[in-house]
Amino acid sequence: MNSSDSEIVASIMQSSGYHRVEQPENANVLMFNTCAVRENAEQKVWERLKKIKSMLDHHPDRRWRQRASVGVLGCMAERLKKKLLETDRLVDFVAGPDAYRDIPNLLNTVESGQKAMNVQLSLDETYADVAPVRYDGNGISAYISIMRGCNNMCSYCVVPFTRGRERSRTLESIVNEVKDLSAKGYREITLLGQNVNSYWDQTFSEGSVLCPKRIRAGYVSYPGFNNIYKSRHGSGARFIDLLDQVSAVDSRIRIRFTSPHPKDFPPQLLQLIAERPNLCKSLHMPAQSGSTSVLARMRRGYTREAYMQLIEEAQKTIPGLSISTDIITGFCGETEEEHQETLSLLEEVKFYQAFMYAYSERSHTHAKHNMPDDVPQEIKSRRLQEIIDTFRKNAAESCLNELGKEHVVLIDGPSKRSSPEMPQLVGRTCTNKLCVWDVKSDELNLSLAPGDYVKVKVLDANAATLKVQPLTKLNA
Ligand code: SF4
Repeated sequence: MNSSDSEIVASIMQSSGYHRVEQPENANVLMFNTCAVRENAEQKVWERLKKIKSMLDHHPDRRWRQRASVGVLGCMAERLKKKLLETDRLVDFVAGPDAYRDIPNLLNTVESGQKAMNVQLSLDETYADVAPVRYDGNGISAYISIMRGCNNMCSYCVVPFTRGRERSRTLESIVNEVKDLSAKGYREITLLGQNVNSYWDQTFSEGSVLCPKRIRAGYVSYPGFNNIYKSRHGSGARFIDLLDQVSAVDSRIRIRFTSPHPKDFPPQLLQLIAERPNLCKSLHMPAQSGSTSVLARMRRGYTREAYMQLIEEAQKTIPGLSISTDIITGFCGETEEEHQETLSLLEEVKFYQAFMYAYSERSHTHAKHNMPDDVPQEIKSRRLQEIIDTFRKNAAESCLNELGKEHVVLIDGPSKRSSPEMPQLVGRTCTNKLCVWDVKSDELNLSLAPGDYVKVKVLDANAATLKVQPLTKLNA
């Protein structure tokens, strides 16, 4: 999401006459687009800010310190606000995630010798009319931000306070962006949002064409999942309608999305993903815990049983589906028994990828104000290690099932280890598994280029990578 936001900021800056430079030493505006979801993420930003200050203080051009401005953008800006401007003269301006359009004005203020800040959250800012500058892209994969904010208020999470309420871009503006990327030759699009599958274009007229899979107009969650917010009901286009239309633009473009909430996976959505070849067969299903009592304290709106039922239905509906997850360990009051339930969830589901963290208390949240952060750090660390070990063991076991299988891979480009002596290519399956192979000097290998689809056979596998052999180029 931050990478995508930085592309939006780049576009706004470009429209105001700025251009991007590669080296920080050559910039007269330096911006950090930040995350506040964990303490650790913020610490890294503070360290980078100190390094930048030191770089500026020792810059060979003494006047540079006066000319270079440092800004903090995004969630950390929203959370810490003035504190960033007041700490050690590290920061000149601060812009929250809904204030990117104001950055050129903030810089005018900074140029007049003052500090500047805009952390106003918006109920409707989606940057739908800002064409992102995809400066780091490979011309094959692109992000499209489709909605912003979160209404869920999980008890541990600062995101609703830093990103504000949910709001979605119009379906039409997203479909137009997909058409534009298709015309430019892109082959993979990742739809982005804090709760991407809560997408809801309320301006969309019910008279317009909506996905025929919808059983009725309005909102459908997966059975057994609750919404804290009742306002989900009403007319307009939902995520299923968006996926229906976006996937129909160009069958050569693979569509992924992240990060979803498990409540917003009605069975009809799973069926659409199963039926459309270019909707990728890999889903992120953030579990957070395998214990119903911890999930209740987290205010996640589901039980372990409901989550397991969703996973079973998703696996049954979408053959070959790969599932990833997020886990937080050591949440307030977590007992050893509750921790064991998370380990058993990892044994049962066998996720192919997991983002695993120890709980860190965040300001503003319900947990911070109402529940003591009472699991000692050494117990959190031990539990986190057990979770990582359990995940890795299962991922390593299940990747053995890949041996001998055939997949269609979209080629990204050379691998990180590729060299002129030993060229290697990498790409991903539609189940999001990373594939790598040595480029031999045969006709097939030499014809392959980034953006091509190639059928491959799996020769070897570990938890992170499949070693494959190319069989046929598919879009020759
Ligand atoms: S769904 Fe919960 S964890 Fe995810 S961003 Fe919203 S509040 Fe945070």
